Amino acid sequence: MIQIYNVCKAYQKESSALNDITLKIPKGDFVYLTGPSGAGKSTLLKLLYCAEKPSRGQILIDGLNITRMGPLKIPRLRRRLGVVFQDFKLLNSRTVFENVAFPLEVQGKKRYEVSKKVYQTLKMVGLEHKLQRHPLELSGGEQQRVAIARALVVDPLILLADEPTGNLDPEVTMEIMELFKGANARGTTVVLATHDREMIRRFPRRVVSLDGGRLVDDRTP
Ligand code: ADP
Ligand code: ADP
Repeated sequence: MIQIYNVCKAYQKESSALNDITLKIPKGDFVYLTGPSGAGKSTLLKLLYCAEKPSRGQILIDGLNITRMGPLKIPRLRRRLGVVFQDFKLLNSRTVFENVAFPLEVQGKKRYEVSKKVYQTLKMVGLEHKLQRHPLELSGGEQQRVAIARALVVDPLILLADEPTGNLDPEVTMEIMELFKGANARGTTVVLATHDREMIRRFPRRVVSLDGGRLVDDRTP
């Protein structure tokens, strides 16, 4: 599903954020990306959702070489990806419903299809009763559920998450983890960047460790 070959990324000339990363993530895998702050976790995710370009190397997603892809094809790639961030990145002036509907509207889906799918997805994350609320009226955990619904509403092949529970307390973290587990059980490939050791201990899965931009460990329990 994800093939990364000898990828390097340098934002500036002297320092490299990623150094010669080669990594394969098969369809349906659940992978933690871990390592200390500055290790390159966010950078690797940004390369996968095309927010940054690698300085060297190739990345294939579902057989598509995204490193050679022109800007016109990026929206098509993003339709296959769901992305979740630590700070949620919701549109605070829009309702919960509107936030989750947004990716479907971008795809030009019909109004009744959008409503049905948004309702189903909000129900899956347990927030169907809050669809007319605005994000800032919700708790952090609820806001992250909305963000996960927005990521999952397009039935992505891959779900990328960058420290998704970094701002949440441990109990809420485990509830959020259940949503990632559920998506993975339904076939979505999950790549989750975290330095939360407790999360990895409670829910052991493949762990890819980065340090100083290098891949230093890759183990499956
Ligand atoms: P992590 O997510 O593991 O904390 P990052 O991928 O954010 O690591 O950062 C890896 C390295 O790249 C760090 O040294 C960081 O300072 C640097 N870096 C990240 N983003 C940028 C940027 N936009 N410009 C310059 N350097 C950056
Ligand atoms: P930065 O540290 O550069 O602010 P962010 O994590 O805020 O990095 O965002 C990086 C990039 O991710 C932005 O260019 C933004 O356009 C892109 N982005 C935000 N949301 C999504 C999404 N749902 N899918 C794909 N890309 C996204």
